[in-house]
Amino acid sequence: MPQQPLAQVPLDSKWHWQELGLCRSADPLLFFHPQNERGSSRIRRDQSAKRVCASCPVRLECADYAIRAREPYGVWGGLSEDDREQIFRRMQARDFPRTAGAGLRIAGQAVNQAISEHSLGIAG
Ligand code: SF4
Repeated sequence: MPQQPLAQVPLDSKWHWQELGLCRSADPLLFFHPQNERGSSRIRRDQSAKRVCASCPVRLECADYAIRAREPYGVWGGLSEDDREQIFRRMQARDFPRTAGAGLRIAGQAVNQAISEHSLGIAG
């Protein structure tokens, strides 16, 4: 993964929550798309990763971090790259969150929608 510019690294970046992430025992290929993956293959892989995130005990911490760090790649906290891109597009640069919890306060609804039945491909 590319390094984040220092100006974008959250001020309180701590990683202890990662030790509790369910992805630690999941297939890492689920969370990051291979080069040139598009269309239905990408949607299905993202949904599989999101299903892992949906029952992860640190999902909110993970999503909050990914928003504040502007993570460009992968599924984090149930948010795909496209989910985060939509969140980022709605934010003004000056309002960009950096402190812990601020990412969720700004994008909480989108974070919850990211693991909805529709998003997971299990809507009736
Ligand atoms: S929310 Fe998803 S990406 Fe984040 S730690 Fe949990 S399983 Fe891993």
